[in-house]
Amino acid sequence: MLDRRRFLTLLVAAGGALSVPLRPARAAASGLTGDFEQGGMIVGRTEPGARVWLDGAPIRVSPEGLYVFGFGRDQGASAALKIELPGREPQTETLAIVQREYRIQRIDGLPGDKVTPPDDAAERIARDNRLIAEARSHDTAEIWFASGIDWPVTGRITGVYGSQRILNGEPRRPHFGVDIARGEGEPIRAPQKAIVRMAEADLYFTGGTTILDHGGGITTSYLHQSRLDVKVGDTVEKGAVIGAIGKTGRATGPHLCWRLNWFQERLDPQLAAPPMPG
Ligand SMILES: [Zn+2]
Repeated sequence: MLDRRRFLTLLVAAGGALSVPLRPARAAASGLTGDFEQGGMIVGRTEPGARVWLDGAPIRVSPEGLYVFGFGRDQGASAALKIELPGREPQTETLAIVQREYRIQRIDGLPGDKVTPPDDAAERIARDNRLIAEARSHDTAEIWFASGIDWPVTGRITGVYGSQRILNGEPRRPHFGVDIARGEGEPIRAPQKAIVRMAEADLYFTGGTTILDHGGGITTSYLHQSRLDVKVGDTVEKGAVIGAIGKTGRATGPHLCWRLNWFQERLDPQLAAPPMPG
């Protein structure tokens, strides 16, 4: 992942071009902190009472002036951030977004039933997808996201964000999480304070699945769990055990598939979290 450690240019539309060298993984400019690249989560700090839009869509700003947004896997090379301070003319910044290269794996000659789920699963998958989209739709006023997102479990990373398989020439859905290998039954901890938005024991693809809401549209997801320790509507503190590692759903061995979302955009949890403790 060293290839994303490079310089980028932040263009400020009002006031000319300004080059900001970014240190690996974290950057602060114009009150913004985070990774200006595909999959990055950005926390903004502005004045109380300010209004903010990303590419024309309004973003909730807390009474303290905090807000958050993120860039999806296939985000284009720029995004427009408009900020209107109280009693001032709105200013628009063009943010330059680093374009990443993802791991692509081609596998040909597979039997058909390994490539496509059976027809009778379609209804269940559609229901699961509706529940997941709903769980990620909340624009909660809490600002827990601003205190950082920590690792829910530590272990060997066996899968990364954005990678994609092409089976028999058909591109599959990219992998949106980070896979962390740990033994069955090992505890999973809330990476930050949250409200539980999903606690489902048996989704078709992802088995035991929990979704935590950290405010501002930021959610984290926990897949393939052997045990769920929370229920929808619970508030959990940072570090609380929310469930246990498993291999439920379509998983080949026990691991946590951990995901980070900004509403329906999938972000890269590995960018938002600090380096994994050794
Ligand atoms: Zn995964």
